Amino acid sequence: MRQAALLEALKSIVGEAFVITNAADMETYMNEERGLFHGTALAVVRPASTIEVAEVVKACVSAWVAIVPQGGNTGLVGGAVADGQVILSMGRMNRIRAVNPEGFTMTVEAGCILEDIRNAAEAEDRLFPLSLGAQGSCQIGGNIATNVGGINTLRYGTARDNVLGLEVVLPDGRVWNGLRALTKDNTGYSLRNLFVGSEGTLGIVTAAVLKLYPKPVAMETAFCGLPDLDAVLPLLERARRASGDQVSAFEVICRTGVEMSTTYLEGVSDPLESPHPWYALVEFSSANSDDPLRETFERFLEGAFEEGIIVDAVIAESLEQRRMLWRIREELPEAQKYEGGSIKHDVSVPVRSIPEFIRRASEAVVAVVPGARPVPFGHAGDGNIHFNVSQPVGMDTNAYLAQWHVMSKVVYDIVDELGGSFSAEHGVGRLKVEYLARYRSDVELDLMRRIKAAFDPKGTMNPGVFFG
Ligand SMILES: Cc1cc2nc3c(=O)[nH]c(=O)nc-3n(C[C@H](O)[C@H](O)[C@H](O)COP(=O)(O)OP(=O)(O)OC[C@H]3O[C@@H](n4cnc5c(N)ncnc54)[C@H](O)[C@@H]3O)c2cc1C
Repeated sequence: MRQAALLEALKSIVGEAFVITNAADMETYMNEERGLFHGTALAVVRPASTIEVAEVVKACVSAWVAIVPQGGNTGLVGGAVADGQVILSMGRMNRIRAVNPEGFTMTVEAGCILEDIRNAAEAEDRLFPLSLGAQGSCQIGGNIATNVGGINTLRYGTARDNVLGLEVVLPDGRVWNGLRALTKDNTGYSLRNLFVGSEGTLGIVTAAVLKLYPKPVAMETAFCGLPDLDAVLPLLERARRASGDQVSAFEVICRTGVEMSTTYLEGVSDPLESPHPWYALVEFSSANSDDPLRETFERFLEGAFEEGIIVDAVIAESLEQRRMLWRIREELPEAQKYEGGSIKHDVSVPVRSIPEFIRRASEAVVAVVPGARPVPFGHAGDGNIHFNVSQPVGMDTNAYLAQWHVMSKVVYDIVDELGGSFSAEHGVGRLKVEYLARYRSDVELDLMRRIKAAFDPKGTMNPGVFFG
């Protein structure tokens, strides 16, 4: 089928208004947040149902035109950026099909915004625990495709741990209905788990059954000043033990990061009187209204003071104060922009190796670019560090960013030596293809290629992701 005929076919499937071909109207679908990619597309197609998705896929495959699935376009590794293909934008598939509070599940379409899902769960006195800075615009289909983590991973796991069933349109246009609301289902290979984290390379997620939890009724948040980096692990251990494993967040931030947030973010000030080399943002939560959470939390902090693993702390006394403490952490990447270019690494290492990783990587990046300023922070409770490195003061930003790959290899080599992952949360996309080839074994890569070929023999589903 020629391109013009394909466009006509797509219009007849989803309606003329939902096939965008005008360059100006397509522009918002072409860029991602960090500005590392700018795409081009034959068209942006916006289906409204699973049947429409299936028909669009069939039409594209028979015309040998590849498809790039796109959710909220908040990904950070170029996974949803097209290079002349058809973008399948899922935003119109945004119905919550069912909420089942008794069964602690809900069934949603892939284009639902994460925040809307969280609100719908809350309206039924339930929690859907995935939570991240982009939750106001990312979609559950994108969250599943990238196996998103976020701030509550320590307690509730990643997307993979919170998806029970999936509906997927396969690369040949068939629909796999795996919308089973089952925790136990040992009936062969877990197809669901293959699709989670597949970044749109094996098919298009159109709906999902999600896991819900009792809604927390109590929450305690503290911003703690630490004497040094070595206090992080004993503090995490104490928090998990003292709370009976009710730690819902454990984020660490270096002093430079706190300085940037408090300098550049309006309305954000340093919550502690004097500066400390490291900080931890610790949160306990409980769904039990009889639980004396505040007492438990204060006992935990007192014990940590006595042990010398925190030297100062402030407990949020209101939602407003809690929000301010979280802004220091969540908006830090925004604040960092005011200090020029930042070379970013979203890595994970075994939790016990966090201090060693940060020390070694901090020395190593300064050896690559003298004067570079490491700004490590992140979800330390699950070993995930955002190892961002700001440019030296006064250096030309482009000259600094030109060192991205050299610096990243040095950082990822250390991560690899420590048994970690070069991409903890954001995935591989198009940005990290060479690192997948470098850090995963031949056996692993061979198996991944065979899986891709089995699902997508024509290679029309998000080409360029994972394998270049
Ligand atoms: C401010 C900010 C904070 C963030 N914080 C975190 C964080 O804490 N933790 C974390 O893990 N990530 C974080 N991210 C990145 C995160 O991966 C994305 O925000 C989110 O998961 C992607 O969802 P999306 O709907 O925007 O997907 P997109 O960006 O549109 O797509 C991402 C990938 O998924 C594929 N895809 C999208 N929809 C579908 C579908 N329906 N079926 C099949 N494939 C699909 C795309 O092809 C692409 O490969 C953050 C991003 C931003 C901008």
